[in-house]
Amino acid sequence: MKIIDVTVRTFRYVSKVGRDSEGHGHPAPPHEARQSLLTVATDEGVEGYSFGGLPQSVLEGLVKPLLLDQDPFYRERIWQALKERQRLNLGTLSDKILALVDCALWDLAGRALDQPVYKLLGAYRDCVPAYASTMCGDDLDGGLNTPEAYAEFALWCLERGYPAFKLHTWQPPIPGAPDARRDVAACAAVREAVGPDVPLMLDPYHYYGREASLYLGRELEKLGFLWMEEPMDEHSMSSYVWLADQLDLPICGPETVEGKMHARAEWITAGAADIVRGGVGDLGGITPLIKVAHLAEAFGMSMEVHGGGAVNLHVLCAMGMPGKYYERGLLHPFVDYEAPKPWLAEIEDPMDENGYVHVSQNPGLGWEISFDYVADNLIAVY
Ligand code: MG
Repeated sequence: MKIIDVTVRTFRYVSKVGRDSEGHGHPAPPHEARQSLLTVATDEGVEGYSFGGLPQSVLEGLVKPLLLDQDPFYRERIWQALKERQRLNLGTLSDKILALVDCALWDLAGRALDQPVYKLLGAYRDCVPAYASTMCGDDLDGGLNTPEAYAEFALWCLERGYPAFKLHTWQPPIPGAPDARRDVAACAAVREAVGPDVPLMLDPYHYYGREASLYLGRELEKLGFLWMEEPMDEHSMSSYVWLADQLDLPICGPETVEGKMHARAEWITAGAADIVRGGVGDLGGITPLIKVAHLAEAFGMSMEVHGGGAVNLHVLCAMGMPGKYYERGLLHPFVDYEAPKPWLAEIEDPMDENGYVHVSQNPGLGWEISFDYVADNLIAVY
């Protein structure tokens, strides 16, 4: 089998999530937004897909020449070749683009072999318990605007079946943010509402200093939290060593720092985190994410996968001991998370009443794509 074409289709849809001036998502009035579909086509008629965009210049100048005429089953070789090209193309060939290509190749392999990706990876389970992952705090009446609002929303999530709850608290440009004391007040309100046994996590503002992070960690210890993630800039690994040394509360990371599996290996050996972190988009695909899962397991550490979606779910279902939870969200009292995306037949992460998210048994990554929807809303093809 050979790759004969790689294309991007960009299409419009109506979104009810808007971005604030710092890029955080919040509920918003319906407005036009864009999505892209990457397609890898082969000479045998099998195609692989993934969702996300890349500039035409990167597709035509870097990605396509490297993929054309290759056997699509050589995912490792293709991923390594793209990774090497990053050195001279750091500004354009991001890990997100590597992820986009890698996921389309895994999807293609699954479709060609008529198997879901998690079984190609070596299946361990078919469903994973979720935690409710909130949007960042806001200043909307009835939204996530007070500690009490978080507490009320946590109760709603438990009612829905979620066994665990993670707060993303207030970040700029929300007035008064960041404020570590207000973050603690929200965590305390949630703990009081849900009782002592529900696992809780915090993801606060990401640029606190050492003192504020230590204060947060010590307060969360008193509240019996399960972990805290990314309270400081992750480029300062020594700050995380300093923090983790002083806390019993597990620190989960790194999430966004560059360096793929290499950065995770450094964090593990430095003692900068207690729980390893990473998602498909952060690391550059399924291929490196599964390496990090095995790395964590080899060190006897947990690994919590960052972000939701079908791709992360497939990897979680191929992980044994390390990954406990699926991150489901981002959730908000105003957002209907259960509605499928208009270009897909079904929601990617259906959750039962006991809080388990079930992986699709369809071939590949499981997407039933409405190509009619894509065609009817097409903006650009290249
Ligand atoms: Mg996070």
